[in-house]
Formats: sequence, C-alpha cells, structure tokens
Amino acid sequence: MPFPDISLREKDAVLKEHLESSPVNSGATFPVVRPRRLRRSPVLRAMVRETELTAADFIYPMFVRPGKDGAREIPSMPGIYQWTITALSEEVESIANLGIPAVILFGIPEHKDPVGVENFSVDGIVQQAIRAIKKIVPELVVITDVCMCEYTDHGHCGLLNLGDPLPDPSLPEGYVLNDPTLEVLGKVAVSHAQAGADIVAPSGMIDGMVGSIRKSLDQNKFENIAILSYAVKYASAFYGPFRDAAESPPKFGDRKSHQMDPANVREALREAELDVSEGADMLMVKPALPYLDVIHRVHSQFPQIPLGAYNVSGEYAMLKAASERGWLDERKTVLEALTGIKRAGADLILTYHAKEAARWLAEESGKIGK
Ligand SMILES: [Zn+2]
Repeated sequence: MPFPDISLREKDAVLKEHLESSPVNSGATFPVVRPRRLRRSPVLRAMVRETELTAADFIYPMFVRPGKDGAREIPSMPGIYQWTITALSEEVESIANLGIPAVILFGIPEHKDPVGVENFSVDGIVQQAIRAIKKIVPELVVITDVCMCEYTDHGHCGLLNLGDPLPDPSLPEGYVLNDPTLEVLGKVAVSHAQAGADIVAPSGMIDGMVGSIRKSLDQNKFENIAILSYAVKYASAFYGPFRDAAESPPKFGDRKSHQMDPANVREALREAELDVSEGADMLMVKPALPYLDVIHRVHSQFPQIPLGAYNVSGEYAMLKAASERGWLDERKTVLEALTGIKRAGADLILTYHAKEAARWLAEESGKIGK
C-alpha cells in the first residue's frame, strides 16, 4: 500500500499534487515548459528539425524545342530556358552533378495540328531529347509529360468536339472528348517509352488516362515503365508563365471541364483513389503552395504511394519577381517554400528552383542550423 497511514481524501490530494507537478502528465505550461530551450543553438535546432530538404527531393522541369541554336530564356521565368537538343548536354550534366535525380520533359514541336502527331512520332522533339539525355547521363531519371496541349494547333489537352456534324452532338462544341483522347495518350506514352523514358506522367486530367496508358504500355512490353499521374491538377491561374514556356495556351475556352475546381478537396481524394486503382505508381498534386492542405490530405489518405507536388511556374515567377525588386530574400524564401511543400507531405517536388536550391543546400550542408 503506498499510503498506509492516510485517509482516502488525503491520498487523493497527494496524488493530485504529484500529477500537477509532473510536466508530462499535467499539461504544464510556462515556466515548466520552455520550447525555446531546444532553439538555443544551431546544433540543437538541427537535432530536432523534423523536415530535411535535399536535392534528392527535386525533379527539374525542362522545355525542349527544335533548332540548332542555343538556349532561349523564357521572359516570365528568368533563369529557365527552352533547350535545343544540341544545347542540352551541358545542362543535364550540371543537373546530375547537383544531385538532382530526375528531369521532366515538355516539348515544343516543330508543327502543331488538330491531333498533335509529333507527340507520338519517333523523331518528335521529346523522343529526341530522351535519347540525347540517356546518352549523356544514363542514370538521370527521365520523366515525360503526356498530354496533347503542347502539340495541338488549338492548344487543348485532347481531341475536340468540333466539325459539322459534331462528333458528339450531346456535348458542347469544343468540349475535350474523353475516350477518343485516351487512345492518343496511349500512343504517346508508348512512344516515350520506346525512346527510353523511365516514367510517363499523364497530365490532362482525362478520365481513365492512367488505366488506359497502363494497358497500352503493358501491351507493348513496357510493363516496367512507371506512371506518375497528375492525379490532382487544378484549373489554376498560376500556370500563366508555363504557357509562355511551352507555347501551349488554349486558342479559345479554358480547361475547367477537365481540370479541378480550386475550391474542392474531397474530390481530390476521389481523383487520387481512382488513379491508384487504375495502377498509378506515383501521384501528384499541382500547383503546390496554394494547395498544401490538398497535399497533406492526399498524403494522409495514400501514405503508401509516393507523392509529388508541382511547384508551378506562377509560384516560381512570384518569388523571382519579388526578389528582383529586393522585396524578398530569394534564397531564404525559396528554401522555406520548398521545405513547406515537403512538410505538407510531398515526397518529391517538381520545381524550377531545383538547380539553385540544390546549390544552396550543398553550400549549407557544411554549416549547421541556417
Ligand atoms: Zn494538357
């Protein structure tokens, strides 16, 4: 008996006092608990840091275009270029040397047409780029964007309900036709795999795109090529600079009949669930910073599936522009933003900041607690 000589009431009082004085049990606050104790020095801060950003987290987006001349800088994305095949080699070597494991390719074709035939041609610009990169740095993981908008003359992500009579009179004129588009996406994915891509990334938010691409890849003996699905892609205004970069703005209308409404998050879980069931190996949320809650929700719901987040062109341009004006410290804000995306639950971050961030992280790895 712990309290043989005292009454029950006294026993209770002693216990209560004991519990109240214990910082673990009592929910004690100041002055017992002082969180600043662990922020006292750079080494202490580093010891208890929960999220560690590294170059291995990054995927670097690259734009490739035909031509013999060098790189062309994109005006609304300072530091980001459209590369010709001949100018690529130095760039991909420097990406690999920085410890960035992967690139994702976007092509600007020589010619555009209603179907976008260069998208699945052996000598398409992306197919040429894949072969060139694999020759220069074989270990660099090459991911390819699989969509139609960069290749179609109308700039839309699929075949359209156009003509007289309309292919589907029950749908509005100009509507992106779902199932006929799937067939083209399958051809594109197979063509990228044939050129040597490691991962294909369907980005059009076309229903059934993952399952259909998986089937096409498997039928062509590419069962080992992974699919990174743009499972949750919002109809966002933050893509503006990308459309300059990829020369892919829609000639009319918008993408709201396939991309998601920015107001929705439950729908994101449904999209992710569908893509997982269709065989997606990895998922993605796009954009990143205005959608950290979505990243968190998708990661919590599907912790077994690697999750990417696309830190898009508009997010890049904002920090660049404010830094150029001296309104923000570029290095600190970029690293903070990327850390935030990882903390929210992203395993991988597709970001135009990848090269500079990798350089800064390498510089800081010697110094603790920055
Ligand atoms: Zn598209």
